[in-house]
Amino acid sequence: MSLSGKTAVITGSNSGIGLGIAAELAKLGCNVALNSFSDTKEDHAIADKLASETGAKVVYIQADMSKGDQCRALIDKTVDAFGAVDILINNAGIQHVAGIDEFPAEKWDAIIAINMSSSFHTTAAALPHMRKQGWGRVVNIASAHGLTASPFKSAYVAAKHGVVGLSKVTALETAQEPITCNAICPGYVLTPLVESQIPDTMKKYDMDRETVIRDILLERQPSKQFATTEQLGGCVAFLCSDAAEQITGTTLSVDGGWTAL
Ligand code: NAD
Repeated sequence: MSLSGKTAVITGSNSGIGLGIAAELAKLGCNVALNSFSDTKEDHAIADKLASETGAKVVYIQADMSKGDQCRALIDKTVDAFGAVDILINNAGIQHVAGIDEFPAEKWDAIIAINMSSSFHTTAAALPHMRKQGWGRVVNIASAHGLTASPFKSAYVAAKHGVVGLSKVTALETAQEPITCNAICPGYVLTPLVESQIPDTMKKYDMDRETVIRDILLERQPSKQFATTEQLGGCVAFLCSDAAEQITGTTLSVDGGWTAL
């Protein structure tokens, strides 16, 4: 399969799942725009490394996904760099864990903005380009928490359910055009976002790392294995393929059986 000549922009892609998806799309020949809120030498070095490993054109574009105008500017700058936006992957996300009565209001606002509202802004800005080009793929990285809930993750669960709903609306509004929109719902993937939860959980339950991974993190993941960033890249590639042309407005769970429970 080749996506040669297509342009993909992936929000929150200087690490973890976003970078894994970017790597897969670059391997398939896409021009790639990487993004995060920072603008460091390391960020640009990640883009240069991906370009030299794959032969793809890769740029790094700084934009803070908590700010609507910057979400829209990311799309404009991608078009400035490559002349088009064919594939939009809404992936940027953060987490905070606390009971509702103790949940800091500013964390709630940040999670709703970055994990959910950013997808509204980028999609709104990208759709006119996709319509003009006559082809488009929007893939929203939701979560198993877009389909089910866990305690202490109110903002994250609300935002991810919102992303699943937004994906359905986007799909319906583009249903008669050569544009699709779907949400991927990963279970646990061992990325910096998950890694950062391990030390506190070890302390909280007085457990070693292996026990925390098996009994706490993967408790609800029946496969007892993490999904990988490469697997998620493969799922995005499938949703961008001709075989997926009639797949729109749905969710693809990559969760080792979690949501079958
Ligand atoms: P990660 O921390 O490695 O990646 C998050 C990315 O978002 C980073 O590139 C970070 O720089 C970026 N980001 C954070 N705030 C931003 C902002 N204001 N503006 C722009 N970029 C910003 O975590 P990850 O696990 O790779 O998470 C990626 C996505 O996958 C998130 O939406 C997350 O909710 C989702 N997800 C992760 C898992 C998992 O187990 N890791 C499971 C389900 C869903």
